[in-house]
Amino acid sequence: MLMASVILRFSLSRSFAATVLPLWSVFLGMLYLAVRRHESKPKTTINRKTQRSRREVSKSGNTTGSLVTNGECIIPPRVSDEVLNRFTLGRNEHEARRISEYVEWQCAKDKERVTYLEKVITEHIYGSRHDCWNVRTDKEQYWVITNPTNLYSQRLFPSVDYTLSFHVGLMARMNAKRTGTKDDRQADRLAAAFRRWEQAAEMLDKAEESEEIQAVGMRCRECLTAFARSVADDRMVPEGRRPPKKGDFIHWSELIANSIASGSSASEVRGHLKSLARSTWQLVSWLTHATNAVRYDGTLVLDATYAVVNAYGAALMRHERPTSDRCSRCGSLRVQVVYRPDSDSGDALGCESCGHLEEKS
Ligand SMILES: [Zn+2]
Repeated sequence: MLMASVILRFSLSRSFAATVLPLWSVFLGMLYLAVRRHESKPKTTINRKTQRSRREVSKSGNTTGSLVTNGECIIPPRVSDEVLNRFTLGRNEHEARRISEYVEWQCAKDKERVTYLEKVITEHIYGSRHDCWNVRTDKEQYWVITNPTNLYSQRLFPSVDYTLSFHVGLMARMNAKRTGTKDDRQADRLAAAFRRWEQAAEMLDKAEESEEIQAVGMRCRECLTAFARSVADDRMVPEGRRPPKKGDFIHWSELIANSIASGSSASEVRGHLKSLARSTWQLVSWLTHATNAVRYDGTLVLDATYAVVNAYGAALMRHERPTSDRCSRCGSLRVQVVYRPDSDSGDALGCESCGHLEEKS
């Protein structure tokens, strides 16, 4: 009897466990889900509040003002460009102003106004420095890449790295055409000489016969005499001496060298200019009579002619340049003429390295 009772209890307890335990598990599961839902509920509330707050901020036009949070975590709105500009530390303001003026000039048709700009990358490629700027206007967003400066819409060029590669490739293709000089001042001052040199380069590219190579020599000779005419001045002739004839390149080149590279500190430069001019003139004259001239001869003469105009041009720019080439504060060569309406001359020299500003001398 006792044994039967134990067996019955045992079987009852087994059936009880078989029935109740799954129910218990279900209950625990529901409890867990309820707790999770409870924990996630405040987040939903915050999000709704945040959205409401954002709507209120947006309606009031205040995109920077603080929100009434009641101690709750609220994702702040985007900081305005005006405020971002104030916290862009280490930005060279002269460079930034130049980039800003460039963009507004390029976008003058749509009257775009620059609201924010920041330099994001600087890379040196083939010896040239390229600065990449992220620029926002009140209507668009651009990458501006320097040297030479060009702008690209970020809608068409989303990656700055890709845009820099495109920019360098584009500039390489544009530079494939031989041009006299990349220095604008030198190009203006010696325009007549550089125009003839570019014509000579074009003739050499197309030349197929020796006579055409000889013609390159003739154009190079015109280039050198045009250079001498552009720079020669009777005041360069020492007192008591007669000026050389107009076509006497060698003697004029000596007088020009004496004038633009004068003094004992420039004796090496002066000697280099004179010997370069004399040997090049003789080389050019040889080519004009070389009946068996080949393309290499034409290249040699073309490069030698360029070297003369470029070397004299550099000395001339240094001699005629009205302002200093160097920052008086830090010695950097990265100086630019900047617009300063409050100064006597209206312009000043701004150093791109240290930001120092000084009156033009
Ligand atoms: Zn400086």
